[in-house]
Amino acid sequence: MNEGPLKILLLSAEVVPFAKTGGLADVAGALPKALKELGHDVRIAMPHYGFIDRQKYNLGQVLSNIDVPMDGQSEAASILEGKIGTSVPIYMVENSKYYDREGIYMYQDDADRFIFFCRAALEMVKHLNWKPDVLHCNDWHTAIIPNWLRTIYRDDPFFQNTVTVYTIHNLAYQGVFGKRVLEVAGIAKYQHLVPPGVSPENQINMMGRGIFFADIVNTVSETYANEILTPEYGEGYDWLLKERRDHLYGILNGVDYEVNNPATDPRIFQHYDIHNLNGKTENKKALQQYAGLAPETHIPLIGIISRLSDQKGFDLIGHVIEGMMSNLNFQLILLGTGSEYYHNLFSEIKHKYPERAAIFLTFNNELAQRIYAGSDMFLMPSRFEPCGLGQLLALRYGSIPIVRETGGLKDTVTNYDPMTNNGNGFTFKNYDSLAMYTSIVRAIETYHYHDRWQMLIQKGMTADFSWKNSAAKYVELYRKALVHRLEHRNEYANVPG
Ligand code: ADP
Repeated sequence: MNEGPLKILLLSAEVVPFAKTGGLADVAGALPKALKELGHDVRIAMPHYGFIDRQKYNLGQVLSNIDVPMDGQSEAASILEGKIGTSVPIYMVENSKYYDREGIYMYQDDADRFIFFCRAALEMVKHLNWKPDVLHCNDWHTAIIPNWLRTIYRDDPFFQNTVTVYTIHNLAYQGVFGKRVLEVAGIAKYQHLVPPGVSPENQINMMGRGIFFADIVNTVSETYANEILTPEYGEGYDWLLKERRDHLYGILNGVDYEVNNPATDPRIFQHYDIHNLNGKTENKKALQQYAGLAPETHIPLIGIISRLSDQKGFDLIGHVIEGMMSNLNFQLILLGTGSEYYHNLFSEIKHKYPERAAIFLTFNNELAQRIYAGSDMFLMPSRFEPCGLGQLLALRYGSIPIVRETGGLKDTVTNYDPMTNNGNGFTFKNYDSLAMYTSIVRAIETYHYHDRWQMLIQKGMTADFSWKNSAAKYVELYRKALVHRLEHRNEYANVPG
């Protein structure tokens, strides 16, 4: 049994700082750094999207025109290599047909694009003669890999000792495609291995295959790992997850405390730390000016940074936003993109309350940091939340979270009790707009008790939601997968092919 440093290849469709639409990119950019610090040989693989600047990131070609089997034929991929931080290698799969586009997802050929990425990554490690102990796959885009290791790569000596860990970052995005993808992936003849319920009829569900075939499955908080065993949160897979319960874990995401540090972050208006919270007020003033809000520091500023979708609780906000604006004394700053309905709703709010509501319907990393730093509170009333990074970043920058008690929000934010001073934010339980409204009122009331509020800020800023603890838990998980593989070696070999 391998007790020493592990060789880990983490595969992700998005990785900070190269490409990001959400929390997955944050995780893929930060967890490997923490694993490296624990002494492991960790490397990352992602596609090289056309918008990733080769010069800026100092990317060099390490392999050119390797053959990647696709749909019974072969297509060429080149591999670029760069670094995350100073020491984690990142390999980018280059193919202009699939990746020279402006965005990351939402193309008709997404199934092909990510199958190609995964296959190229596996062929790449063979070319580099770098044998990973662990393939750490993330979300539907890389879910085909556990399936391959039990089929087409099953007898490949190169992968004899390689295990798969499959992390679900959001069970709601499953990657459902027509049956043709099995031909593309070269596994049509293994269809009998998969029980009928794993995919709807005549369709292939990538997420389902990842859950079914991976040695170990995990999600990104303990509460979400339990919630997805219920029909309410299971997205149709509670039965399969229950079947895999013995191999299902929850590990809370961390935040990159180096990149996200109010004392050094180059993106915010002014640096600050717990000994100099005036700097935070300066950020608030500068943000108000930047956003066209009235320059009033004594009025609480509520920030929201989010995809504008029902998952994130925008239907709750939609119900009461008018009442909030008319009855409560606060300012709102929102940064987000998503459903057109919410674009229109918030545009109207801005029109009606130009000095109290600032609405930015775009994706902007720099502005996001400025909002974490300049806001007093951070609203995140999610319907479900696998982990949530927004509330962790908010705590790090001293913006007090107001959240619904679900998934990772429940595991990281506890309700402030004015009698005991326990708690680090404001929470509510039921998915209900009045419950949310009440906790916003409690937050605004508490804000006006200066000492209590300063204490909450300091508590948030000194909490440790860095990757240190969670990275060690991932290492345990990798080792569990390796033990499991060793114990079930015969079973693996006997999978009928
Ligand atoms: P998700 O479900 O979208 O992954 P998380 O809370 O886990 O939610 O992570 C969201 C990440 O994306 C955070 O780093 C947040 O700051 C960032 N983010 C979300 N929307 C925007 C936006 N419009 N502009 C910049 N950053 C954003």
